[in-house]
Amino acid sequence: KEIQNNVIEVSTISKAFGGLRALENCSLNIQAGSITGLIGPNGSGKTTLFNAITGYERIDSGDIRFQGKSIAQSKPEQIFKLGIGRTFQLTRIFPKLTVLENMHVAVQRQGKGNMFSSWSAAHERRKALELLDFVGITKHKDLLAGNLSYGQRKLLEFAFILIADPKIILLDEPAGGVNPTMILYLADRIRELHQQGLTFLIVEHNMEFVMNLCQQVAVMHQGNIIAQGTGAEVRSNPAVLDAYLGG
Ligand code: ADP
Repeated sequence: KEIQNNVIEVSTISKAFGGLRALENCSLNIQAGSITGLIGPNGSGKTTLFNAITGYERIDSGDIRFQGKSIAQSKPEQIFKLGIGRTFQLTRIFPKLTVLENMHVAVQRQGKGNMFSSWSAAHERRKALELLDFVGITKHKDLLAGNLSYGQRKLLEFAFILIADPKIILLDEPAGGVNPTMILYLADRIRELHQQGLTFLIVEHNMEFVMNLCQQVAVMHQGNIIAQGTGAEVRSNPAVLDAYLGG
């Protein structure tokens, strides 16, 4: 039997907002080295699941493990430092700082007591420039981040989380509102990082993007994963069709 090496294990988690059950006994395993797409109709719980995994939302019950250890009680910054990076639907960069200054903040955010505390300013700058180059926005390094296009801001946020050397990256609608050329560019960067061993969990409404990029697709409906498999498998699953058509 093949050994399943899960980097993240979500086990029967529930989360209610008042009487509204956003997640109900939701379970999901993310295999190390995979690119998993997370899809589902609006309001099905995708963002709440992302928030639960990254510590932005405290779950009511169940457990979430990262590399075997529970992170269900951990705070966002702790989870980030463990190696779970995430982007947001609305990017969380600092618009009044330059692109390069944003990268400096990303280093500071790592705090004391890790490899970054021994970084020299020169090393920090080199690493920041290397990542800006990787996402293709080096020429804008001295621009105020607020003056970047929407797509470029998403690329900056991507570089921002890469500075922490994450093991897994959760992307919240990376292709949303981004022009087609930049979407392809972004997909290539994800593939490149994937080849280097990174794991991805991606919420995205752009089905072409999901089907081209993700080997695994998980489908959410009413706070639960109702199907998981290849793109072709989930597309032909009757429960998935029901969820999208039946609301
Ligand atoms: P999705 O990301 O799939 O669109 P969400 O996780 O955003 O779904 O939402 C799942 C359900 O939980 C929705 O009914 C939404 O209105 C509700 N919800 C999400 N966050 C909150 C919140 N902070 N307070 C109250 N209800 C919320």
